[in-house]
Amino acid sequence: MLEIKNLRAEVNRKPILKGINLTIKEGEIHAVMGKNGSGKSTLSNIVTGKEGYDIINGDIKFENESILDWSPEKRSLNGIFMSFQYPVVMPGVNNTYFLKAALNAKRKYNGEEELDAASFLKIIKEKLKELKMDPSYLQRAVNDGFSGGEKKRNEILQMLTLEPKLALLDETDSGLDIDALKIISDGVNKSRSSKRSFLVITHYQRLLKYIEPDVVHVLIDGSIVKSGNKDLALQLEEKGYGWLEK
Ligand code: ADP
Ligand code: MG
Repeated sequence: MLEIKNLRAEVNRKPILKGINLTIKEGEIHAVMGKNGSGKSTLSNIVTGKEGYDIINGDIKFENESILDWSPEKRSLNGIFMSFQYPVVMPGVNNTYFLKAALNAKRKYNGEEELDAASFLKIIKEKLKELKMDPSYLQRAVNDGFSGGEKKRNEILQMLTLEPKLALLDETDSGLDIDALKIISDGVNKSRSSKRSFLVITHYQRLLKYIEPDVVHVLIDGSIVKSGNKDLALQLEEKGYGWLEK
């Protein structure tokens, strides 16, 4: 699904990613853990094609094709999705219209018929129920005035709507109370399939109790210094990151 090879990236001449190698197969969930500032968000931003980074070396392949020169839109249309660490507020943009436009753009790209308002509402109401979100969120502007936890839930609503092949979840668990954490994890677990992969960025082992990763990676100062199974997350919880630093 995703193959990152020796990826080096800079921002304003400052090296941030220092040779990342990461392969995620179809159906796998990988977790990336690491202290603040280690490059986790940079990594997911670069996979989704955010501007402002200089790729110095390496390649990113999605379904065996290099995507470095693909626009963010093309990446999205082909099935890459990111839930932002800091979700963007869009005053004046109605949440329903936003979701419907995004889904229909994707359907059109895939040669499928666009959904009319009624059939879209039917689908979206199901997804809202899964996330225990009140339908009133549909009438509001995207994330406008949403609490931290509501924004994160709205990000997952976008994911459930777009049904991506690869979902990058950047600290989707931060700022969530335990009930919201369970609901969001349920949403992710229900959308797990042999055809869908996840990269879950988190600080906390508690998320990984609900969303069980196949592989856990530790990112320190722009490099993956250790990979292991879910027990690695427990070890980190206990021992911190010191023992892995040079
Ligand atoms: P994490 O998500 O692991 O907390 P980030 O990927 O957000 O880390 O950031 C990694 C490092 O890159 C940090 O030191 C951060 O300050 C730096 N960085 C990210 N974006 C920029 C930018 N636009 N300009 C300068 N430094 C940046
Ligand atoms: Mg981050």
